[in-house]
Amino acid sequence: MSWRIEHADTLTVLAELPSRWAHTCIALPPRGTSRERALAVLTQVHRVLREDGTLWLLHTNPELCDELRGAGWVEQPPPGWARPLAGLRSLTRLTKDTPLADPCSLVRRPQCASWRRPSWPTPRAADRAGVLGGLTGQCVLASTTRIACGSCGAPYHQGAAGKPLVSCAHHNPTGRCLVLDPFYHPANGTLDAARGHGRSFLGITDSQAGERE
Ligand SMILES: [Zn+2]
Repeated sequence: MSWRIEHADTLTVLAELPSRWAHTCIALPPRGTSRERALAVLTQVHRVLREDGTLWLLHTNPELCDELRGAGWVEQPPPGWARPLAGLRSLTRLTKDTPLADPCSLVRRPQCASWRRPSWPTPRAADRAGVLGGLTGQCVLASTTRIACGSCGAPYHQGAAGKPLVSCAHHNPTGRCLVLDPFYHPANGTLDAARGHGRSFLGITDSQAGERE
C-alpha cells in the first residue's frame, strides 16, 4: 500500500496520470469551486478511472450531475447508507457509460452480502468530520477490494468458499486498489479511509480551488 499527496494544479496532475488506472474516486469539490472547474476536473477523472471504476461525488450543486451525464458519466442508484447525509451534502454514485453488471450481480454478490449497514449516528449527534470519515470509508469499501491484480489492476472479489474471483488470468495478487481524491483536504477523511482499509491513495490539493466549508 502506498499513498501520496500532490500539491499542484489539479488539472495538470490529472493530465499526467495514466488512463483507466484508478479504481475509485471520491470527490468533494470545495464550496466556491465553479461548475466549469468541477466539470473539467471530473472529465479528466473519467479518463483516469478504470472502466469498472466508481466516482463518488459529494456535492451541493444538483446541476453538476446533469452536466456530468453529458460528459459520459452514468448516475447509479444511491446506496442506502448515504441517506443520513442528505442534509450535509448529496452523495451521488457515478460510473462510466460502459455497460456495468448490476452491483449485486454474480461477481459482486459476495461483497454485497457482507455489506454491513453501520449504526449511523445522526448528523445532529455527530461531528461533521466523524460523519464524513464514516461515509468515505463506506465509499472505499463499496467500490474497491483489498487485493488487486499486480499486472492489470483488476480487483479480486471474494468468491464462494473464500476463493477470490478475478476477471483476469495473471494470477498476480500483489496489487492494491487505488483511491483518488482530486479535491484533497485532510477533513475529507479520504486518506484515512483508504489507508485504514489497506488501499493505495493519491490526493491532489490545489489551494486556488476555492474556499473550504
Ligand atoms: Zn490481471
